[in-house]
Amino acid sequence: MRVWVFSNSGNASATAAHALTKKLKAAGFTVSPARPDIVITVGGDGTLLSAFHRYNAALDTIRFIGVHTGHLGFYTDWRDYELDELVAAIKADKGERVGYPLLDIKVTYADDTTGHYVALNESTLKRATSTMQTDVFIKDNFFESFRGDGLCICTPTGSTAYSKSVGGAVLHPRLRALQVTEIASINNRVYRTLSSPIIIAPDEWVVLKPASELNYIMTIDQFNMTDRPIKEVRYRIAKEQIYFARYKHMHFWDRVEDAFIGAKH
Ligand code: NAP
Repeated sequence: MRVWVFSNSGNASATAAHALTKKLKAAGFTVSPARPDIVITVGGDGTLLSAFHRYNAALDTIRFIGVHTGHLGFYTDWRDYELDELVAAIKADKGERVGYPLLDIKVTYADDTTGHYVALNESTLKRATSTMQTDVFIKDNFFESFRGDGLCICTPTGSTAYSKSVGGAVLHPRLRALQVTEIASINNRVYRTLSSPIIIAPDEWVVLKPASELNYIMTIDQFNMTDRPIKEVRYRIAKEQIYFARYKHMHFWDRVEDAFIGAKH
């Protein structure tokens, strides 16, 4: 089995990644960035996001494992003091994997060229300098005209990230659904939006058609794309999934409680 250890640049992560690489080699694994079967990230959820984008052309054949050097995250199951247990679990691997939905993003730019992207957490469309105005379509049916700072479209596993900060619900990652959350919508006598997050079914898609083709910021996970005027963005659940080698099970709501509520009262 080919394994790759993908670390962030922090001291604790680099040290843990070095120790893990040694242990994997000693256990007989090929540790290489080329065509890995398993990618182990060492860092936080942000590190897993980076590894996902590094390997997003081979999602069908890769399983991810997250090691965290601080606290357990949403994409990380292991702590840096559990490296021996992790190597033993990989040795006993039977190919088990759990898959989660991804967001498929198709952009048509003002010059009619297109871009195709996949997000693990979310994509947002925002306007930097003034109000964003966009028509929102669900399954190509007109839904509303939005005015405000922007809109966030997230996956279930991304619902605990940016989407939560802008008032989105936390979705259980076993749901195949997308969530659209408003970012500071304007609602008054003239402009009206639904003003609550909506959950999109697996066979539905969302289209945004901005009123002006200028000055939009489109984010895809940690990436910002500000350089090109946008005509239309189409969002749906991707055909691909992200797969994790989940050797130990942690109850999703325990993870949510641990991350956002902390010590029980
Ligand atoms: P960052 O600004 O360095 O980190 C953003 C924070 O989001 C980190 O604490 C990260 O956890 C956490 N995070 C990432 N994915 C998560 C998930 N699925 N559930 C819960 N928390 C999650 O940015 P980055 O590391 O490059 O990550 C980009 C992501 O940051 C974006 O996809 C977006 O979701 C998020 N973000 C959030 C806000 C906000 O909440 N206002 C603003 C901008 C971006 P770790 O510490 O474990 O890495």
